[in-house]
Amino acid sequence: METLVVDHPLVAHKLTALRDVRTDSPTFRRLADELVTLLAYEATRDVRVNDVTVQTPVAEAHGVRLARPYPLVVPILRAGLGMLEGMTRLLPTAEVGFLGMIRNESTLQAETYATRLPDDLSGRQCYVVDPMLATGGTLAAAIQFLFDRGAVDVTALCLLAAPEGLAHMDKVFANSGKPIRVVTAALDERLNENGYIVPGLGDAGDRLYGVV
Ligand code: URA
Repeated sequence: METLVVDHPLVAHKLTALRDVRTDSPTFRRLADELVTLLAYEATRDVRVNDVTVQTPVAEAHGVRLARPYPLVVPILRAGLGMLEGMTRLLPTAEVGFLGMIRNESTLQAETYATRLPDDLSGRQCYVVDPMLATGGTLAAAIQFLFDRGAVDVTALCLLAAPEGLAHMDKVFANSGKPIRVVTAALDERLNENGYIVPGLGDAGDRLYGVV
């Protein structure tokens, strides 16, 4: 598994404002949206393209076009929805699939409670969006779900990651032989006893959409 921490002053600036407890929900949503677009720029570096030739008003020009099948963007409900628009702004032709995952409090395993995805993901590049890579249980289950449906490679975009979550992902996919990338704005210190990222930004879903 490859991890990329995007090192850019604009990313750091927006992330700092996002972390600030005084940042209200509308501002939080806007900042998350802007951050995702910056992360998406790096995360799509390996997106597949085909060579094409177009006619400019002056001459022929060689360029590229996104290859088909188009990438699939998969927000993990609910907090991942806050990252969807920032992603599709950069990839307007991408298709979008939805994955609802929740932790079963008895087994502590991530379980799928909602799916709206193509059955067959053969040949698809997938981009999973989930703001917080904490224990890594949900993200690992989501990625496995996509591979089980035939995805060729999966890139996860997370606003923040914890070392424990990355270690878990490394362990789960150590022998998978599948290309997996995690792109994040920062690698934080640790998880606390409640599973929150420290220093983190709190509960991403609550900060985006309010406490329910
Ligand atoms: N989920 C969150 O929303 N925040 C954390 O810090 C960890 C998991």
